[in-house]
Amino acid sequence: MPQYILGVDEGTTSARAFVMDEDTNVLGFGQAELTQLYPRPGWLEHDPMQILNTQLEVMRAALRTAGIRPEQLSAVGLTNQRESALVWDKATGRPIYNLIVWASRHSDEIVAQWVASGFGDLIMERTGLVPDAFYAASKIRWILDAVPGAQERAERGELLAGTVDSWLIWNLTGRTSFCTEPSNASQTMMMNLATCEWDDDLLAHMRIPRSMLPEIVASDAEFGSIDATFGAAVPITAVLGDQQAGLFGQAALHPGQVKMTYGTAGVLNINNGPNAFRPQGLTPSAAWNIGGQLCYETEGVVYAMGKTMQWLRDDLQLIHAAPDSEWYAGQVSSTEGVYLVPAFTGLAAPTWDPSARAVLVGMSNATNRLHVIRAAVESMVFQTRDLVDAAVLGSGFDIPELRVDGGAVKNDLLCQLQADILGVPVARPQNSEATIFGAMLLAGLSAGVYGSLDEVEAKWVVDRMFEPQISRDQADSMYAGWTAARQLTRGWTNQVA
Ligand code: ADP
Repeated sequence: MPQYILGVDEGTTSARAFVMDEDTNVLGFGQAELTQLYPRPGWLEHDPMQILNTQLEVMRAALRTAGIRPEQLSAVGLTNQRESALVWDKATGRPIYNLIVWASRHSDEIVAQWVASGFGDLIMERTGLVPDAFYAASKIRWILDAVPGAQERAERGELLAGTVDSWLIWNLTGRTSFCTEPSNASQTMMMNLATCEWDDDLLAHMRIPRSMLPEIVASDAEFGSIDATFGAAVPITAVLGDQQAGLFGQAALHPGQVKMTYGTAGVLNINNGPNAFRPQGLTPSAAWNIGGQLCYETEGVVYAMGKTMQWLRDDLQLIHAAPDSEWYAGQVSSTEGVYLVPAFTGLAAPTWDPSARAVLVGMSNATNRLHVIRAAVESMVFQTRDLVDAAVLGSGFDIPELRVDGGAVKNDLLCQLQADILGVPVARPQNSEATIFGAMLLAGLSAGVYGSLDEVEAKWVVDRMFEPQISRDQADSMYAGWTAARQLTRGWTNQVA
């Protein structure tokens, strides 16, 4: 009898669901857009009821297109946008305010106060995170301040708070299960990184009652069964935040294994095994708790990856579509010393400089648009090396290869240049949907569809390996040019203000 797994991906822009069989063949798919609410510049919210309803809709659509009935499913795996937070009424199930999305700046002032009072140091020590409005804690604090009577109600035990995984689990299980797991909890700024439990000292200072938070269980726990409204009691057996799900979906299960996602932004995740490293400029986090084993990771985000291709296309109008970049960039064998550092909105990991702005340098009379397009492709590669070097420096791991995913990795030239600049092979898997694939694989492991982690690892199949083709000296001299160019972006808005 074939076994089927449902994957649920609650993303920032859309809700998605996949049905696959145990051989990872995707049989059905559903997707629906989420309405982005912008109550003020810099603020971003989602309607939590819409999140729930669209998620159910796409789950049903995935089953329908697969021709599978709910009772035929062995397990459900959930992955979700992290850091976004909401607060809801335990009795009515109604949110008291919209979901505040990770990118939103509602709680900048709260975090500034925490830092000014010296509390930021304790946050960093306990969570490993640099205090920021990005993480869930200050968003929950903001909602409790903004909604009249909410703090008192929270203290009386009438309200629940959490990231979007706990909201979905609570609803999908008919309000019987209120939990989260370490990959989500470690991005809230309330979890103690060493113990993977809520940190009571932090909660006391933040005035967030522990009783309103979900229990932190294992990532492969029994999260409860999707209740009868779905048509059958199907167990949710895996939950992972999106980037950790991507790491798992890339079968980067051993210390030192690393994945890079080349989407609009870029995200690197490196498996740290049982040790929580804190490399300079990167973010330490729990990767997962599977089979009772805690695994840590560090991650680094860069703001402009594929985004730079969109800029070439929409703003400079040098290309018609992002994939054209490969052909144009391939018409010249080098940029002839031209570098584009796409610090359009500042530099993220590992440099962290919000006042940086983009530069295009090194041009001569012979520079043409082909060189600029190639420099844009190379900017993805150099930014990735920045992250990998920081990860290696902070952990001591030798990186065996870079496993890549995201929309831009269809670009063969990008993958080849990446292998050249890093000096390690770049492995592009057949399955480019690492995130939802990771959630489904873990759900299958947890439900016994797969017997072991080795069996899961075997589901990761390479599409193409790109081997380094230039000397280390050549790579290092190209990279030296990049680091000099990157330096030029630093502090720009301070200089011209
Ligand atoms: P996200 O999920 O972050 O929206 P995707 O993983 O779908 O992003 O990737 C889309 C991004 O990849 C876009 O920014 C696009 O410009 C870029 N992209 C897509 N195809 C290519 C390509 N062949 N070469 C370079 N960049 C590409």
